Amino acid sequence: MPFSTLGLSDPLLRAIADAGYTVPSPIQSQAIPAVLAGHDLLAAAQTGTGKTAGFTLPILHRLALKSYSTNRPVRVLILTPTRELAAQVGESVNKYGIHLHPRLKTEVVFGGVKINPQMMRLRGGVDVLVATPGRLLDLISQNAVKLDKVETLVLDEADRMLDMGFIRDIRKIVALLPKKRQNLLFSATFSEDIRKLTTGLLVNPIKIEVAPRNTAAETVEQIAYLCNKADKASLLCHLIKTNDWQQVLVFTSTKHGANRLTEKLNKVDIKAAAIHGNKSQGARTSALSGFKAGEIRVLVATDVAARGIDIALLSHVINYELPRAPADYVHRIGRTGRAGEEGQAISLVSHDEIGSLRMVEKLIGTAIKREQIAGFEAADVAPPMPPEPPRAPRPPRNTKAKPVARKLSEHSTNRKTYSGNNK
Ligand code: AMP
Repeated sequence: MPFSTLGLSDPLLRAIADAGYTVPSPIQSQAIPAVLAGHDLLAAAQTGTGKTAGFTLPILHRLALKSYSTNRPVRVLILTPTRELAAQVGESVNKYGIHLHPRLKTEVVFGGVKINPQMMRLRGGVDVLVATPGRLLDLISQNAVKLDKVETLVLDEADRMLDMGFIRDIRKIVALLPKKRQNLLFSATFSEDIRKLTTGLLVNPIKIEVAPRNTAAETVEQIAYLCNKADKASLLCHLIKTNDWQQVLVFTSTKHGANRLTEKLNKVDIKAAAIHGNKSQGARTSALSGFKAGEIRVLVATDVAARGIDIALLSHVINYELPRAPADYVHRIGRTGRAGEEGQAISLVSHDEIGSLRMVEKLIGTAIKREQIAGFEAADVAPPMPPEPPRAPRPPRNTKAKPVARKLSEHSTNRKTYSGNNK
């Protein structure tokens, strides 16, 4: 089904053609007609599904139907968890609205940078405001922006906003909006908290689910390399060099860890940059653009900083450490295997993370292949259980049969696969 059948106006169809999109993604073909018809929306979709265009295009269509009042009050409010995502959504709004006449005014506001320039930019009014919740509340308290004319509210990556503790801020913001409005909520995962939030917020929403709940994209091959904690950095360098990976996104659990790993990679001539909350906005932006341009081979990120990063055709995502919250695993690997491309999500798993690995497997409902790389075998990881053999007759009661640990040195191939009953 081509885009032209969805009911979008010509200027938007031209922008879609400029972007090189030929057919709508599944979320777009469902979300666009629903939003155009004015419905509330509850969409289960991760980054990479085309969700941004899925809400931006119909919102712009509806905005352009009405003429602008001279003081340009905020008519569309898009809340996102992070600055990176806010910036990307802002770029999308501008990209898809490029042929609209008159042009819509879009502003992006987030914390971590000076508030005054943002206040100045909001002064002349804006049609579409993309914001992180905390900074938006600061701007409201300084009378820099009013939300009483908002027609559409979008909560993008709502699960992440809740994980980041934004629930109270979101509720405060929602209380300032007109009662009659359109609400669109996007979330990759659906916890009890999200459900609670949606009940008070959405009115008879159209529900869209493009990937089965809490599952990983099918085009992503998932592997867990069992290794020693101390060997992770050298194993990562080995994997990057031997496989000649050119664009790798690596997740660490701490900002410190991200910095240390980045230094180690650079020392062995693998160009890397870290992106996390302690980095200035400028450093984050330049790391991201260097990575996109192929000048930086490895981007080392924490979950929060990487949230929503949109990089086309990312072939490898590495979990240097498994996330504490299993749902973050789904978010992380949602960055690879996009638009039908094959991707690999690799986790370096040390002994203390086996429990986390099992929790991830429980969430996604599949077993992740366990492998080891010769020279980097895990000394301290109990080998995964091989498929259960047929039950042997019980040994006599007095025999203390010790489990026989599998010697790693017995392995002969470079890559050893243990799939099967490893939950
Ligand atoms: P998103 O899930 O919104 O982060 O989008 C992921 C990526 O898909 C972005 O790089 C978009 O430019 C791209 N994209 C969105 N819609 C389409 C489409 N219909 N065809 C091809 N690429 C698309």
